[in-house]
Amino acid sequence: MRIGLFGGTFDPIHLGHLLLAEVCREELELDEVRFLPAASNPLKENGPIADGPQRCEMVQFAISGNPAFAVDRREVKRGGPSFAVDTLAEVAAENPDAELFFLMGADALADLPAWREPGRVLDLATIVAVNRGDVPAVVPPGIESNRVRFVAMPACDLSATDLRRRAAEGLSLRYRTPAAVIAYLHDKYLYRI
Ligand code: ATP
Repeated sequence: MRIGLFGGTFDPIHLGHLLLAEVCREELELDEVRFLPAASNPLKENGPIADGPQRCEMVQFAISGNPAFAVDRREVKRGGPSFAVDTLAEVAAENPDAELFFLMGADALADLPAWREPGRVLDLATIVAVNRGDVPAVVPPGIESNRVRFVAMPACDLSATDLRRRAAEGLSLRYRTPAAVIAYLHDKYLYRI
């Protein structure tokens, strides 16, 4: 089994996330990609706006119909700051025969030295990094580069920050995230001020 793990805040999930996962799945011939919504990102100043179960639910809506994609709620259930190393260690123990790939965009790769135990993260999984929009993924100083693979994705300028701002301003989210996510946001009145 080749398992892709894709961590993020997903506040909310958008088409950039989905395209990243699909491009990596295809390029690396992954059997599945598990989306891992974080309870909170230790490196982000502000916590998420939507709560953990809501962000998991939006991911579930967004990936529905794709048998290769799944949502893994363990970080939200665990609570507190979500450290990739803890999650990777758990998934590795549960899947001793699997090869793990940890997917991320260029901005996340740049932050890797600030993660908890980056060396152990690299022991547990191959990092798979994509460009974020026009910004290429670059291995940061101090990181073992032979454990990082690069995948090119069509430049996508979307961010969750931009979607939240658009939702707050009552602007269209159509084609930025799946229709089922938009319906959920409307239903729950999320990101409105
Ligand atoms: P925010 O705007 O709230 O900071 P975000 O859009 O960056 O959110 P996250 O959930 O923080 O979304 O990102 C999860 C992962 O997805 C990160 O590895 C990030 O680099 C990657 N990612 C998000 N958007 C894109 C995109 N448009 N292109 C490539 N990678 C992306």
